Amino acid sequence: MIENKNQSRTSLEQLGEFGLIDHLTANFPTQQESTIKAIGDDAAVLSFDKDEKTVISTDLLVEGVHFDLAYSPLKHLGYKAVVVNLSDICAMNATPTQITVSIAVSNRFTLEALEELYEGIKLACNYYKVDLIGGDTTSSQTGLIISVTAVGKAKKEDLVYRNGAKDNNLLVVSGDIGGAYMGLQVLEREKQVFLVNPNNQPDLDTYDYIIERQLKPEARTDIKQLLKDLDIKPTAMIDISDGLSSEIMHLCTQSEVGCNLYEDKLPLDPQFISTCEEFNIDSTTMAINGGEDYELLFTISMEDFEKVKANPNLSIIGHTTPKDEGIHLITRANTKIPLKARGWNHLSNESGEN
Ligand code: ADP
Ligand code: MG
Repeated sequence: MIENKNQSRTSLEQLGEFGLIDHLTANFPTQQESTIKAIGDDAAVLSFDKDEKTVISTDLLVEGVHFDLAYSPLKHLGYKAVVVNLSDICAMNATPTQITVSIAVSNRFTLEALEELYEGIKLACNYYKVDLIGGDTTSSQTGLIISVTAVGKAKKEDLVYRNGAKDNNLLVVSGDIGGAYMGLQVLEREKQVFLVNPNNQPDLDTYDYIIERQLKPEARTDIKQLLKDLDIKPTAMIDISDGLSSEIMHLCTQSEVGCNLYEDKLPLDPQFISTCEEFNIDSTTMAINGGEDYELLFTISMEDFEKVKANPNLSIIGHTTPKDEGIHLITRANTKIPLKARGWNHLSNESGEN
């Protein structure tokens, strides 16, 4: 045990996740020429080759914080653990190529359970054509911990960082948002019902899409090619793991721009909307604050408007502004409200995600 001679005590809650990362990693200047981008983006960028760059990203999933095995089948969990990492590679406009998987398991888990986990990992490897190349296995006192590292590649000129957005760029998102979070709400509700009455078999058919968004998300490995085909190179890009508003804040802060996000432009699935109505909660709030959609958020030049405007995979949801105009949501009633990075803050134990 390392003795703490420094008597001051600062709670992690005070810093928040991003404050903590900044604080801990503040004094690590890079020392290798091959480190092109270190901490601060969706993935690090390394250069061992003049033209082709290597990107690396890692994520940690902890039972009870990021997943609940009461409703998360191990096969799905294995799949999702891979996907969340591949999503970070996609967010650099790169192509995932390899993964490593490390696990810590308590004696609660049987061989059969871990085989299921690896079935899901295998499914993801086959679907996304990535190779499992290593990892580590150890025991834990309680619960399951999964850490996945993903490696990918991209041509130097294809890479897109979080910090490249310019004033008067269009803000674009792939797919639809909010579903994963509402899927989690349904699963949490059914878990509570089950705890009260174990004979009650939930009928989840009406929520199939949003539950799948939560339990078995996909990484948008297709977007890189789609953008190439449209002859578009985004100016900045990030994936949506923590929620749209939080990711917009990251992108805008790092790019030193402001932004107007339009409520009426948010791409929402009908099942997401009807579930919000059923839960009597505001769909816009859920769409911008809910996490784990693993869609891509990016900015493009205004000149590319015609190329994306009719694309069913992409929605233009706003535009950047000069930094001093701030980051706002323009509501349907045409009022302008400052966007807050609610995201998830699991350091304050609100909810789990990465
Ligand atoms: P994402 O949500 O895209 O996975 P994170 O918010 O987890 O990204 O991380 C932001 C940046 O901080 C990344 O570059 C990540 O590698 C880095 N990072 C996160 N945690 C640590 C840590 N404990 N030590 C060093 N770097 C970290
Ligand atoms: Mg990310």
